[in-house]
Amino acid sequence: MQIKVLSPDVASKIAAGEVVERPASVVKELLENSLDAGATQIAIEVQGGGVRLIRVVDNGAGIPPEEVDLAFERFATSKVATTDDLEGISSLGFRGEALPSIAAVSEVTMVTRSRDELSGIFVNIKDGAILEKAKRGCPIGTTVTVRNLFRNVPARLKFLKSTATENGHISNLVAQYSLAFPEVRFTLLIDGRTAFRSTGSGNLREVLGAVYGLEVARAMLLIETKEGADPLLPGVTGFVSPITLTRASRSYLSFFVNRRWVQSRMATYALEEAYQGLLMVGRHPIAVINISLPPQELDVNVHPTKNEVRFRNERDIFSAVQRAVRATLTAQAPMPTLDTLPQPQPVSASQAEHLPAFAARPEEAAIRTPLATPPQSAEPVAKSIPILRVVGQLANTYVIAEGPDGMYLIDQHAAHERVLFEKIRNERSRRAPEVQGLLEPVTVELTVRQQELLEIQAEALSEYGFGIEHFGERTYLVRSMPAVLRGQNVAQSLVEVLDFLAEGEKGDRREDIAASLACHGAVRAGQALSHEEMRDLIRQLEQASQPRTCPHGRPTMIHLSSLQLEKGFGRR
Ligand code: ADP
Ligand code: MG
Repeated sequence: MQIKVLSPDVASKIAAGEVVERPASVVKELLENSLDAGATQIAIEVQGGGVRLIRVVDNGAGIPPEEVDLAFERFATSKVATTDDLEGISSLGFRGEALPSIAAVSEVTMVTRSRDELSGIFVNIKDGAILEKAKRGCPIGTTVTVRNLFRNVPARLKFLKSTATENGHISNLVAQYSLAFPEVRFTLLIDGRTAFRSTGSGNLREVLGAVYGLEVARAMLLIETKEGADPLLPGVTGFVSPITLTRASRSYLSFFVNRRWVQSRMATYALEEAYQGLLMVGRHPIAVINISLPPQELDVNVHPTKNEVRFRNERDIFSAVQRAVRATLTAQAPMPTLDTLPQPQPVSASQAEHLPAFAARPEEAAIRTPLATPPQSAEPVAKSIPILRVVGQLANTYVIAEGPDGMYLIDQHAAHERVLFEKIRNERSRRAPEVQGLLEPVTVELTVRQQELLEIQAEALSEYGFGIEHFGERTYLVRSMPAVLRGQNVAQSLVEVLDFLAEGEKGDRREDIAASLACHGAVRAGQALSHEEMRDLIRQLEQASQPRTCPHGRPTMIHLSSLQLEKGFGRR
């Protein structure tokens, strides 16, 4: 074929393809523009997985009327002017490609008003050309509406996944930006329903709560940064999970470089190094980490989507991340293993209320016993337990048992969770889940988010014994359920499993489903157990492959050795 210069239409669509891969890419570019414009409130709305509509409303600086046309021209940007500027980029955008690229593959309208103007400007753009431009009253800030994404690029449209999957990418993206910008208030509306909201209070722990749930937010450890640290060294801030809080996949790791969300294998590796030997095989931490360093130290211009960066000095970054995380883990809440439990102290009358040392919650007990050296490995956690004799029940919550070497206090809920978790998992892998059929199907009404998750996880849920049928709109019929949920409210259990799944991301969540089912099926704290029931529970726990921890990694038992008892009573 003869060599010809591509027509502007074809060229712009090819270029757009690099920036706009899927609806979430549009959301990303618009969010970055809003953040670069100094917005403190950003409202995102999507319909039809972002294909029908994406709208981003911000209260940022707006665009002056004479620059509105320029914003839609390729390589038009207010953020860099010279090649020197490229060396020190501190804004999220800089390529001047996003708006023209989006406009090349959709219908765009924008209303914008800058601080110095009394009214705003409305523009309507189709196939990259301005169709309409007029004055319009509006608040200070910018609203960009993108409709019919990829209608003129059928090839791209064909490759999009289900609405639920595209919505999932968008939700995750908004969650990531809210973690990077806790001082900005984000709201995300998906098909008219609020799917996510952050307060903009500036408190990262609060955003963690919005993204991962309160329990996770409370447990996360703040990365302590040293006072007066060298400004030339990379700064590492954020939160990491204690070693007792883990997930089955790496999708709970967020890295930001100068608050730009990036994928970095190096940073992931540095983080995992810090947890080396502290987590069970196949478990991963939760982390939100921002690396800050002078813009000259990195190159963000690696790819049009800007989600990869190159560091001038990778080794420094690696060790900064690894050290900061390791220091945080060592300083706080190590896993209570047999050796880190506090020694019981002799009880005098005046001290009585501060003791008994071993009855405190294990996590708290462990906090009081700083870890001098990290535990040798995750081994003690996986070790089997000796044959135990049940003595009784304490506070309707703990089973007291005797073993060859002293006393064991077993958390009945955690222990039962472990037993059920392994049972459920084994049955699933043998493709023989124990199923409980329902005489009358139970109807469940789901939220949009729950519905998305149900659709994504449908196969996994059925492998565990859920028989679920779509009934219409957001109503579903449950015809069968995993037998572990016998006696539970099935609708509520299903909703709770879905909500639990909402805390994570995509990917294979089978382990999480098993953990959630085990948690629902397990006996609660506060429930009186007969001697028989306790014996059964302990027998089953003895046979578990990892009897010492519940599926979430918390301990199932505390051991008080004969030696500790003797020392405590002054017999030695
Ligand atoms: P870039 O962000 O790389 O500069 P874009 O195509 O995304 O390129 O945007 C072009 C220009 O339009 C920006 O440089 C900025 O001046 C202006 N702009 C875009 N969106 C907004 C917004 N939400 N608020 C203020 N200005 C904006
Ligand atoms: Mg931009």
